[in-house]
This record gives sequence, structure tokens and C-alpha cells, in this order.
Amino acid sequence: MRVTIALFDIDGTLLRAGGAGRRAVELALGEVLGGREDVDLESVEFAGRTDPWIVSEALTKYGASPDDALISAVLRRYVSLLPEQLAQAEAFEVLPGVASLLTKLSERTDLVLGLGTGNTERAAYAKLARGNLDSFFSFGGFGSDHVERAELLRVGLERGRQRAAEAREVRTVVIGDTPHDVRAARAIGAECVAVTTGSFDGSTLRAAGASVVFTDLRAPAVLEAFT
Ligand SMILES: [Mg+2]
Repeated sequence: MRVTIALFDIDGTLLRAGGAGRRAVELALGEVLGGREDVDLESVEFAGRTDPWIVSEALTKYGASPDDALISAVLRRYVSLLPEQLAQAEAFEVLPGVASLLTKLSERTDLVLGLGTGNTERAAYAKLARGNLDSFFSFGGFGSDHVERAELLRVGLERGRQRAAEAREVRTVVIGDTPHDVRAARAIGAECVAVTTGSFDGSTLRAAGASVVFTDLRAPAVLEAFT
């Protein structure tokens, strides 16, 4: 049997967290840096980046040395602040077609549904839970696995393979919204379904190497990309 391992990005692909992630990082960084209340990360590009990469950039911006212990301290505080920020985020939204697509994919016996996201594992599940999407997923590759996106996808793929041990042939499809997602997918030999629900347009995503680009996950043709 041929099995498809699908690794979904979260932000801009499944949902929009309405600024909750950025706000929680700002608050966490402020606390760890000794109670600063003026932390502003508007100038740090979050899209397609991993949580440890974002925190490392943010620490550097505020003159702190981004060593592993400090990055871990900020991330720990971040994940404990995140649920409240998510609850308060009025602009939080699950993107069009997502719940329906995940329902259909989760019914398939020839497909394993996983995550490939720069969020740490706890942050990923907190965001998914806010949108009632957490029960669709049981594994993935996360920002807590590796700072580099291609490497965390490799970890997610390996976890997916363990769930598809009977498969003679494995096909991997990464679903994402940024050129970082597309390039990381290509780096591990995966196909990439890209969506323009994030901040990048179709030509940018195609130029990065996307196999197919959709405006959102509602189109009937989306299901065909997984067969
Ligand atoms: Mg994304």
C-alpha cells in the first residue's frame, strides 16, 4: 500500500492566531529581560520562521546574547503566556475549508495526518486547541525539535513513517504558506502544496518550488493533491 504522510504548517495555513503569538513572545521576552514593558517585535519577521529562531532574533535585537539557556527560558515563559493571549485574540480564525479538509483526510486509511510547524509542540497544540483542530493531530515535527525548518520536517517525516510502518511506498506532502515552508519541503524531497492565505502570493510560492498553489483550502482540487 502507498501511504501519504501529510505535514501541515499551522500559522497562515490552518489558522490565523490574530497576533497572539507575537504578543506572547513580546511579554515573555520582556519578563526574561528583567521586566521590560517596551518590547516590540513588529520589525521581526515571524512568517515561516521557527519559534527558537524568532526568539533568537528578538534577544539579539534587545542586546542579549541568544544562547540556548536564554532561548529556552523565553520559550518556556512564552508557552505559558500563550493560551491567555489566544483566548483574548478577537482576530483569531480558522482558515476557510480547513475543518472540512482535515475531517476528510482523517477518515482516510492511506494517509497519516501530521504537523510540520515552526511552533514548539506546546505552542502548536495551544493554537490548534483554540480553533478546535487539536484532535486531528497526534504527531509532527516542531520548532522544539529543531531551529531549522527542513530539519524539523525530517523529524516529523520520521515520526510519520513510524505510523506508516506497513507502507511499501511513502509519499510526503508538506502544506504551507511561505517560501520557507516550500524550500524546506523540497530539501527533504517532499511535494509542497502551498496556500496564499498567509502573506505570500502564488508567484512567490511557485518560484520557491511549490508543486501546486491554492488561494485557500476550500477548493475541491485540494483533495486531489492528496491522492
Ligand atoms: Mg505559516
